Amino acid sequence: MAYLRCTAAPILRPCLSSSFAHSLKPYALNSGIRYLSSTATLRSATISQTHIFNDVAPLRKFRRELLFNNRTVGLVPTMGALHAGHLSLVRQAAAENTDVFVTVYVNPTQFGLNEDLASYPKTWEADLEMLHQLNQELASTGQGRVSAVFAPSTKVMYPILPPDSAIPGAGSFVEMRPLGQLLEGASRPVFFRGVATICMKLFNICTPDRVYFGQKDIQQTVVIKRLVKDFHLNTDVRIVATSRESDGLALSSRNVYLGARRRNVGIVLNQALRKAEAQYKAGKRLRGDILWPAVDHGDKVQLEQETMEPNERVRFQVDYLSLADPDTMEEVDQVDATKGAILSGAVKMLPVEEPQEDEELGVGGGQIPVRLIDNLVLDPVE
Ligand code: AMP
Repeated sequence: MAYLRCTAAPILRPCLSSSFAHSLKPYALNSGIRYLSSTATLRSATISQTHIFNDVAPLRKFRRELLFNNRTVGLVPTMGALHAGHLSLVRQAAAENTDVFVTVYVNPTQFGLNEDLASYPKTWEADLEMLHQLNQELASTGQGRVSAVFAPSTKVMYPILPPDSAIPGAGSFVEMRPLGQLLEGASRPVFFRGVATICMKLFNICTPDRVYFGQKDIQQTVVIKRLVKDFHLNTDVRIVATSRESDGLALSSRNVYLGARRRNVGIVLNQALRKAEAQYKAGKRLRGDILWPAVDHGDKVQLEQETMEPNERVRFQVDYLSLADPDTMEEVDQVDATKGAILSGAVKMLPVEEPQEDEELGVGGGQIPVRLIDNLVLDPVE
């Protein structure tokens, strides 16, 4: 494994085999320090190495060296628990930049006081392994590589006051009104304040040429575009298509909590959105005409489940179904076909009742409520 932990004085990660660790020596490159195998060529060692940073100063130094060498950086912010969706962002970043920085940080200020911060999945070793495998694949195709993983502590990210998820909350925050209060923001009032704040910090630390976000969290992409524009941040926002299971369920770190029973019914949201999308594609432009089949589908599936026995059924609540303006996320009564619109929704899968023997219940035994979100973009057609 070619991972290096970089502090002010770089330290090797303990997971390096000792024989490999002994073969490493400092290598000076334009006043910076890289650690290279004594036998490796610069090119192959550079491609295969990922530096791990926990602090800001060494990461900045590394970034400066890349700049002096005319290299470009694509930043992929994540909360870890990586899956194929995250990797698709890294792949696109590697195709468009010489270097990719992946950040792994579960940001407390975007979780409300009653939300699932404590139970959010943490899979650090598996995350590094996935990035390592991907790096090898990228190296063989001659693309950019993951040269840095930034995994800061909360003290590093919130150096003065501890993170506060209360409203109004003590601390320094970036807020976007009303954008950050709509839809996901209505259900999770501190969410976008936390997202915008942590992204501002990460962008300031990493100074990326481009930043990569998934369409899966579409309102987040609108928030980030607004952040970059309103604060004149010098980076390009790139949006990557949603990665899905074969039946259409959007990949999410939280899907591990679903278990088989809720997983099968969880597709209801994507099915509903597709029905609404079909209306738009058939030429419908009025809100009611587009949304009714989606609402109807949700109602039907809910009714179907209610008639089943508790040891078989799945209970869920539809949080919202939205047809919104792509720039503001405000609801529209009629789609302007020159602009298109965003169809989105959220459902809360409630805890499983009366688990059966041998039932596959997922992490948390089926008792953790899971909020699923999804969206489809209605492209401009005229
Ligand atoms: P998270 O770790 O959930 O904060 O996600 C980190 C980034 O990965 C965000 O930009 C997400 O939008 C993106 N992402 C998460 N799931 C998917 C997916 N299924 N397809 C594409 N991007 C995703």
